[in-house]
Amino acid sequence: MLDVIDYHKAYGDFVAVDSLSFGVEGGQIVGLLGPNGAGKTTTMRAIAGIIPPTRGQLKVDGFEITADPVGAKKRLAYVPDDPRLFETLTVWEHLQFIATAYEVPDLDVYGQVLLEKFELTEKRDTLAQELSRGMRQKVAICCAYLHRPRLLLLDEPLTGLDPRGIRTMKQSLVEQAALGNAVVISSHLLSLVEGLCTHLLIVNRGKKLFLGSP
Ligand code: ATP
Repeated sequence: MLDVIDYHKAYGDFVAVDSLSFGVEGGQIVGLLGPNGAGKTTTMRAIAGIIPPTRGQLKVDGFEITADPVGAKKRLAYVPDDPRLFETLTVWEHLQFIATAYEVPDLDVYGQVLLEKFELTEKRDTLAQELSRGMRQKVAICCAYLHRPRLLLLDEPLTGLDPRGIRTMKQSLVEQAALGNAVVISSHLLSLVEGLCTHLLIVNRGKKLFLGSP
């Protein structure tokens, strides 16, 4: 589902990601682990097509992100560590916006299912600017799931969630993997993602240190 081949990112002389290669298959949940500045966000943003690579190939379900960004982006969802919402739209309007952009046919049913799962039904008509940090995170996740992406890229998705929210989030990721989708989840903390991930990719200073089972 995801092939990262010799991905390299340099800012001037500084190498943020150094010749990184790895693959993720459908059904796998990969924990991308490493300390601050390791290159996790840079890698996720490159896969999502937000920052161009200096070198290398990033393929989502066979679609290369720079050569065929539309094909690749249709198949993925990226949730940054600081989810940016449209402050003057309600929760439901966010889902309507995504449903329109991705031509989701069953917003009324699936959107409601997602809101219930993440305990947002009562906040359906609340403006984003009136939501708590954890609720904002959950809205971003609902938006990510709505178009049924084959690849989910989640940057620190458990930050800001209460224990119940963490449990719901983890369960939902296991469900995504059971559907055959691929998940990449970044974290600083092994303790937060162990028991969830089928594989771990550990990076430091832009280099791969380890890829394998927990
Ligand atoms: P954190 O856990 O703190 O979020 P990270 O593993 O996600 O860290 P990145 O955000 O990918 O790390 O950053 C990797 C390195 O690239 C860091 O040293 C960072 O300073 C550098 N970097 C990131 N973006 C830029 C940029 N636009 N210009 C220059 N250097 C950058």
